[in-house]
Order: sequence, then C-alpha cells, then structure tokens
Amino acid sequence: MEQLAAALGAGERPAIATALNLIDDNRAQAREQATALLDLIIEPDGAANHLVGLTGPPGVGKSSLTAALIDVWRGRDLRVGILAVDPSSPVSGGALLGDRLRMKTDPVDDGVFVRSLSSRGQFGGLSTEVWPMCLVMLYCFDVVLVETVGVGQREADIAHSCDTTCFVAQPGSGDSVQFLKAGVLEVPHILVVNKQDMGAVATRTLSELASSVQGEHPDGNWNVPVLATSATQRTGIVELADTLQAHHRQLADSGDLQARRRRYQAHWLLKRLEENYGRAGLRQLGGADALLAELCDQPGNPLVQYAQYQHRLSAARPPAD
Ligand code: GDP
Repeated sequence: MEQLAAALGAGERPAIATALNLIDDNRAQAREQATALLDLIIEPDGAANHLVGLTGPPGVGKSSLTAALIDVWRGRDLRVGILAVDPSSPVSGGALLGDRLRMKTDPVDDGVFVRSLSSRGQFGGLSTEVWPMCLVMLYCFDVVLVETVGVGQREADIAHSCDTTCFVAQPGSGDSVQFLKAGVLEVPHILVVNKQDMGAVATRTLSELASSVQGEHPDGNWNVPVLATSATQRTGIVELADTLQAHHRQLADSGDLQARRRRYQAHWLLKRLEENYGRAGLRQLGGADALLAELCDQPGNPLVQYAQYQHRLSAARPPAD
C-alpha cells in the first residue's frame, strides 16, 4: 500500500485506477487494503483542493460543460479528476456519462482522469463508495468534479458531499424553477443555464431562475449566482470557472472547509449504515441525529469508522422491534 500511495502521489494513472477499484470492492481483503491505503493518503488539511458537484437533468450538457471546464482548468495548470455517476443507466452500468466525457477530453493529457461509477456497484449498493473515492481523488488532483444526473434525492446527496454544488438547467424547462421553489432541489451554490446559444428561451430561464433563488445561500456568506454558458460555443465557461474558484476561496477563508468535509463524511457514514442496517440499526447506535452529531466531531479514516460502528452493531443485541 505504501507503493500504491507513492504512485498516487506521483499522479500515475494506473495507480489511481487501482486505488479506485480497491475502494469499490467490498470483499474482506480489498477492504483491508483500502483501509490501509486511506490511512496513508487522507490529508489533515486538504483545503487547497476543490471538490465540485455538477448536477442536472440528462441532456442538459453536463458532459460538454465538464469538458469545457477541464480545458479552462488545464490552461490554469490545475490537475483535474472527474467522477461521473450515472444512476439513470443501470444497463450501461453507469458508463454513459464517463464515456461521453472521455470522448471530449484529450486521451494523452496526464493531468485529467475520468472515472465512471455505476449506480449499482458490482460489490455494493448505490455508488456507496463515492466519498472514499473523493478522498483518493482529492489526494491526486487540484480539482475533483463529481458529475451526477437527476433531480431530487441525487441533488440532496451531492449537496451533502461537495464543497461547491452547481446545478445546470435546460433553457425552457420550468421544472428546475418549480423544484427550487418547492424545495425539492437543495439550493445549489451556483446555478447555470447552459445552451445560452438558444437565445431568448435561455435568457427567459435565466431570469426565472434568478428570481426563484433569493440571494443568499442557506450556508451563509454566499449569494447564489445564476450564470449563462454555452458548452458548445464555449461562452461563459471562464466566468463559471472563476465563480467556482471564488466560492472555494470563500470557503477556505472562512476556515469552515475542514468541518464541512467532516460533515460529508458523517453523511456518507450515516447513509451507509442505514443502507446496511436500516433505521433499526441507526436507533441502536443512538438515532440518526445523535449519530450525525457524533460523527461530525470525528475526523479520520471513514472505513475505520464504519468498521467500528459495524462492530458495535454486531456486539449489541438485536433490537426489540
Ligand atoms: P449531459 O447528458 O447533461 O451530459 O449532456 P451532454 O453534454 O451529453 O449534451 C447533450 C446534448 O446537448 C449534446 O448533443 C450536446 O452537443 C448538446 N449541448 C451541450 N451543450 C450545449 C450548448 O451549450 N448548446 C447547444 N446548442 N447544445 C449543447
């Protein structure tokens, strides 16, 4: 594992692929190795790196936008890692988003790495390992972008696990506005209307969205910008990259980034425990709220933490109900 960690530090692509595969593998020996690896690479202060979540309905241009952003970031000499999560595609095993993206990126550029994640991992549940994979990616790259499809629960998940969340809307689709107003969609840090080249319909959606988010983000200290881009015409992309960077700087300056990342980890652990042990399991551990508070105070290796709770659950008697 020391060798693998060193190769990761050197940004070697096969090592990154190996590490991600290891984390995606729930079998006992792989778990042990993955745990040892995370011990070596979790950085106490990863604030220099930026974890971005990009989400929105299928076809809105997320892959195109990601490819355009990659060009801007590479131009700024930033190394970029992408995790493409495609829950809408059980048949392709989630390869769609990543493949589309791969087609749009330079295959020989060592500063870019794209990994697709299936909705139902071969060895696990619903992309359960996204958080530990983010930890690997944050060790290797300056910017890590997690791209997901969908509206609703997925946004909530991504909002709980990324520094900056960015929602991409389709011109002329009232859905995004309705979802935002109804609170179905967690308020993202940045709203983007892509396909600006469609003209008036894009402008209208832009102003509808601008009036549906009321200024300050619930996190505080951040007014939600509504930006227009065209991924194909390459307009608005630099502004988007700048806005992402501004949000990251605001988080880093506020000193809140470490606490936030502990919260992502806490949410990941809670979700994973609930998936595997149900609400009864959470009750045995003191209930979701108490558990979340407890977890938010605990920095460290998420796989070790998970194993500890697993141990506590298996040592406890089964619940009465
Ligand atoms: P995703 O499913 O959200 O990842 O969307 P894709 O990036 O695969 O794009 C879906 C379709 O929209 C493709 O045919 C793209 O060429 C097209 N598209 C993406 N961005 C733009 C844009 O800015 N303007 C226009 N007119 N088409 C776009």
